[in-house]
Amino acid sequence: MVRLVLVLGDQLTPDMAALRAADPAHDRVVMAEVMAEATHVRHHPRKIALILAAMRKFAARLRAAGWRVDYTRLDDPDNAGSIPAELMRRAGQHGAETVLATRPGDWRLFAAIDDLPLALDWHEDDRFIATPAEFDAWATGRRELRMEWFYRLMRRKTGILMQGDRPEGGRWNYDSENRKPPRADLFAPRPPDFPPDQVVNEVLDLVEARFGDHFGRLRPFGLPTDADQAQILLDHFMTHALPHFGDFQDAMLADNPFMYHSLLSPCLNLGLLDPLEVCRRAESEWRAGRVALNAAEGFIRQILGWREYVRGIWWREGPDYVTRNALGHDRDLPPLYWGAETRMNCMAHVVGQTRDLAYAHHIQRLMVTGNFALLAGIDPAQVHEWYLSVYFDAFEWVEAPNTIGMSQFADGGLVASKPYISSGRYIDRMSDYCAGCHYRVDRRTGPRACPFNLLYWHFLDRHADLLSHNRRMGPVMANWARTDAATRAEILDQADALSRDLQDGRTV
Ligand code: FAD
Ligand code: SF4
Repeated sequence: MVRLVLVLGDQLTPDMAALRAADPAHDRVVMAEVMAEATHVRHHPRKIALILAAMRKFAARLRAAGWRVDYTRLDDPDNAGSIPAELMRRAGQHGAETVLATRPGDWRLFAAIDDLPLALDWHEDDRFIATPAEFDAWATGRRELRMEWFYRLMRRKTGILMQGDRPEGGRWNYDSENRKPPRADLFAPRPPDFPPDQVVNEVLDLVEARFGDHFGRLRPFGLPTDADQAQILLDHFMTHALPHFGDFQDAMLADNPFMYHSLLSPCLNLGLLDPLEVCRRAESEWRAGRVALNAAEGFIRQILGWREYVRGIWWREGPDYVTRNALGHDRDLPPLYWGAETRMNCMAHVVGQTRDLAYAHHIQRLMVTGNFALLAGIDPAQVHEWYLSVYFDAFEWVEAPNTIGMSQFADGGLVASKPYISSGRYIDRMSDYCAGCHYRVDRRTGPRACPFNLLYWHFLDRHADLLSHNRRMGPVMANWARTDAATRAEILDQADALSRDLQDGRTV
């Protein structure tokens, strides 16, 4: 009897586990563009277009390889509207009772598919280097789940940057040589653009018509939408940006949204590139003497370490992870996250870049928009929804641990050993944003005091009980305790007024 093989929009890899288990001569691949997925949060139009275009091209590739593909377009009149409903419709059409599927990166979809009155044959997503069971075995019984220790396990497992059982160069981590502040004269290479072909143009028209009112700019669109284009992006990164990757990993320049970052996250997350191959390629660049060890190791750690680690956290912690709120933050996300005017130059730049490109690099996400939301006491569920909507690489398995855990400390310190907070001083050191700002980064009080400074001290004060037990927060808590009472009161009053302005939607 014919079986259905489900291929989701982020499973665009020719040797996905479910495809490997199927028989092209008898089984039918099911792919569907559905409103339920396109609208469960209000995704950035560029992200929707990227996924739909990549799906259409992948379906054509499967057909060319001999698969029979039942592909439902978003505007097909008999589109059933959701993945489970599409599976039932296709099962009825073909008299199929069994579905071969690879584990999705999302609890919601996993549960909805698993509930169907069909026989589900689940396969592990082995594009990842660690299985959830392997992560669990590592995590069980540990007091702290620090990424660094898990990363070492992954280095040993893959042999990447290893010499026998020892790390190449004698150290596991070269971060102390990385993360320099930016210089104004830095020349960072622009990643290649991929002008839309016919498939992409059709999708762009569709997305414009159906999702034109979502936050974000759709055109000009130049993202890679198939494996060949992803390979070109990868080659470009390895040649032009990897050599400086570590050095300026945390730097932010207003006129340079990409710096030396790779932009490979959507290619990896959709399945257009294999993470292990990408890591091996970076390693071979180092072995060939084309990049320094700190650059190769810093890049490999992001994929072999962070990417694998957050996925392990996601499956281990379960579907309620996105509802965690360890700090009890309950304020609404201010309109400036959706493009409302702000006088904060850093926020205006990062939100504007997010609107235009559906991209911001890690430090922009963590230390500008994430930092501000945390300091301002925003409800982490709303912050999570924002990140899931606006970035072109956002899928719950990777976005939620980064947002709920790393950025908002809402899991109580599972992912981060202390809250990732900073005053304006860090932003000033790592960017050129402050020079052009209405606010003064060196002021803690007064009408032009940097809002990051005000909210930073307010955060420390309102969470003093929790933070005073944290060894790494000791020096900064002591600094706050030493500040004279009048200055403290002035900072707290002004921060309260700022919070009210944010909540009432006044321009800050
Ligand atoms: P590079 O700087 O070039 O890094 C190389 C690769 O390493 C990335 O492509 C990515 O695959 C991986 N990587 C780097 N950091 C992380 C990390 N912390 N977790 C997982 N993988 C990592 N990444 C996503 O892929 N999807 C998300 O939805 C997402 N949401 C985030 C939300 C917040 C609040 C924060 C702080 C980070 C988030 N990240 C997310 C992680 C990281 O910011 C992006 O992976 C990175 O910015 C993508 O750009 P890039 O490809 O140029 O990365
Ligand atoms: Fe951002 Fe403050 Fe610097 Fe302005 S002064 S850019 S608000 S950190």
